[in-house]
Amino acid sequence: MNTVSKPTIPSPAPRSSKPEILAEEIIERLTYRIGKDAKVAKPHDWLTATILVLRDRIIDKWMESTRRVYATGDKRVYYLSLEFLIGRLMRDAVSNLGLMEQVRDALASLGVDVSVIAGLEPDAALGNGGLGRLAACFMESMATVEVPAYGYGIRYVHGLFRQQLADGWQVELPESWLAHGNPWEFERRESAYEIGFGGTVDVVNNPEGEPRYVWKPAERVIAAAFDTPVVGWRGKRVNTLRLWSAQPIDPILLDAFNAGDHIGALRESNKAESLTRVLYPADATAAGQELRLRQEFFFSSASLQDILRRHLQQYDDFTSLPDKVAIQLNDTHPAVSVAELMRLLCDVHGMEFDLAWDITRGTIGYTNHTLLPEALETWPIPLFERLLPRHMQIIYAINAKVLLEARRNKSFSETEIRSISLIEESGERRVRMGNLAFVGAHSINGVSALHTDLMKVTVFADLHKLYPDRINNKTNGITPRRWLQQCNPGLTSLIREAIGDDFLDDAEKLKPLDKFASDASFQEKFAAVKRANKVALSNLVASRMGIKLDPSAMFDIQIKRIHEYKRQLLNVIEAVALYDQIRSHPELDWVPRVKLFAGKAAPSYHNAKLIIKLINDVARTINNDPAVRGLLKVVFVPNYNVSLAEVMVPAADLSEQISTAGMEASGTGNMKFALNGALTIGTLDGANVEMRDHVGEDNIIIFGLRADEVAAARADGHNPRAIIEASRELSQALQAISSGVFSHDDRNRYSALIEGIYAHDWFMVAADFDAYAQAQRDVDQLWTDPSTWNSKAICNTARMGWFSSDRTIRQYAKEIWRAG
Ligand SMILES: *Cc1c(COP(=O)(O)O)cnc(C)c1O
Repeated sequence: MNTVSKPTIPSPAPRSSKPEILAEEIIERLTYRIGKDAKVAKPHDWLTATILVLRDRIIDKWMESTRRVYATGDKRVYYLSLEFLIGRLMRDAVSNLGLMEQVRDALASLGVDVSVIAGLEPDAALGNGGLGRLAACFMESMATVEVPAYGYGIRYVHGLFRQQLADGWQVELPESWLAHGNPWEFERRESAYEIGFGGTVDVVNNPEGEPRYVWKPAERVIAAAFDTPVVGWRGKRVNTLRLWSAQPIDPILLDAFNAGDHIGALRESNKAESLTRVLYPADATAAGQELRLRQEFFFSSASLQDILRRHLQQYDDFTSLPDKVAIQLNDTHPAVSVAELMRLLCDVHGMEFDLAWDITRGTIGYTNHTLLPEALETWPIPLFERLLPRHMQIIYAINAKVLLEARRNKSFSETEIRSISLIEESGERRVRMGNLAFVGAHSINGVSALHTDLMKVTVFADLHKLYPDRINNKTNGITPRRWLQQCNPGLTSLIREAIGDDFLDDAEKLKPLDKFASDASFQEKFAAVKRANKVALSNLVASRMGIKLDPSAMFDIQIKRIHEYKRQLLNVIEAVALYDQIRSHPELDWVPRVKLFAGKAAPSYHNAKLIIKLINDVARTINNDPAVRGLLKVVFVPNYNVSLAEVMVPAADLSEQISTAGMEASGTGNMKFALNGALTIGTLDGANVEMRDHVGEDNIIIFGLRADEVAAARADGHNPRAIIEASRELSQALQAISSGVFSHDDRNRYSALIEGIYAHDWFMVAADFDAYAQAQRDVDQLWTDPSTWNSKAICNTARMGWFSSDRTIRQYAKEIWRAG
């Protein structure tokens, strides 16, 4: 025993938030940490120095939060996500720490404009779209509602690609968000784990004569942790986002190097590092690449090893795991965690299989994000077996257990048993990651009410029959800090003047704003804020694209990943039809509109990229046609990301949420717009259904087929050709596009795209066109009465509080995690 008593180490004094002190510290960091004289410091240096000063203030709270969970023994939540679409962090941190004015004043006293340096911070774009953005909103809300939580993911060197347009075509460029370093993160050299791939499985008998399996991987890499603190609203709690980076076990093979093979000496290093180099740029199709499976296992294994190590630091064994640990799988990307947790418990910690299975299921929850068959992950057995031989065995063992359970229950037919199986047996044999996640979790949640209902009757119908109490709903949400307070300070001030500050701590307290919906003077102020936001967006469009917009026109915005089911095509076809109408009927009073689009297409998604080109072709024609008299403009703003969304969302009058019903699991873009006072034109899909319930059916424009009608139309062989022939507007628009009116340089560019609508119309573009076009003319009508429009917009803001991710997280905490 060491008898030397430890000295009491004093904690540093809490940092001051006075502007003078902040300014002093910024200069101190600039000088001693960055090594720059203030006289020659570049804007980037000021940004880094400011972040370092903010970070210190977060660290105090971070350590306090960590000490608290050790002291209380509270349950910890682990959110495993292959994507975190974070955006910038500085404004979030400043605002949540309540230091907005102080930081602005401190920088001003140094001659630095906070908004200029804030604009230099790169977006952390470690995600593709909604799923990754949800993970980022959840991290902020978990800190806000004081759930002790860790986010686990991958520290991609290159996040989502940067999108440029070249002659209207999408061009993908690498994004290097780490080029200037990342002052938010801490590398944790002590938290590193070995991750294996390939090799063989040995069976040895333990002293009791029972077989024990020992995986001998052929390859190994190190997972090294990088931590970013995530601060909640009013700095209540600071949680950790831990991102893993792959590093070689031997950075350099010295023997090879000394033998003169300088390139070969670095091969291992390059191979390891390539594992976490890039984010897979696909959000709705399962990438079939081996590297993707390696990434999934890499971050799942590192996270689980870390979780188990932390648990053993505080508790004797793993029987308490389900009481002290909740692991949430964000979609199936971390689903291999089910098998890895079993392996760690059984093979490494010597636990008996059935007990390990109970503990695994007691600990893991799974969130499903899509019903699209092509997006449900499956892996070919030969690949899986080669890369993860022990996990393959474990999956077979789990499958045997589950199938036996189903067989004992006589009500299951062979067809149902085949659909429950973890192994797809028809055609090439594959592992079904959705089924693995389902059977390995005690809770499977959908992300909107409609999506949850559909899950029960489609993908998971048979598993739901076997385990009827596992599926539940947790409708997505958005953090109102980023998506109202920070992105729309004008509206935030106006609301505070009207109803006080309660809504800042509880978005549902926006409700009292309802009373102001019909107040003429409030309407005017609300409209003035909207106009100022439209001017700001117009300035951005003017400076980036050289296009001038009229802020008094209706700003009609569709921004999201480009995907056929999201139906940007329906929107642009309607624009073509409207263009035709405006030219044919100059005598009518057309409502001036600007149709804005933004979004990235997966690089391998041909039709999505073609739709981007079509929007740009149509935009060029319409914007340059004097016969339009400026009544319609079409603009595709390049490089959609979180920071662009933060400018576009507050500037929208009309929000386009027009997916084919039954195909958008929830959507969160829809929530951002409505919270900021845009009216929604949308289908009864995803969370739109619940938004209608909350804002009231008079305050949202709903059109088109419902999910059950889409399913019926598809099943009955819907006849798009007949529908098109019956609609003059639609047939003319389609005719114009397919015959090359917008593509003189290549008249057949869009023939196949349009032919798809005639031939099968899988996404119901033809089926919904007339209803959509009519809804748009109703929107025009509404726009001519500003008072009514504004009152509806105000009602949207007032009634969207329920869609705060704080509410979502409280539901997860209470009903799934039993934590917090
Ligand atoms: C909110 C958000 C999304 C999700 O938008 P949907 O309209 O729900 O698809 C995608 N990307 C970014 C950058 C976002 O901010």
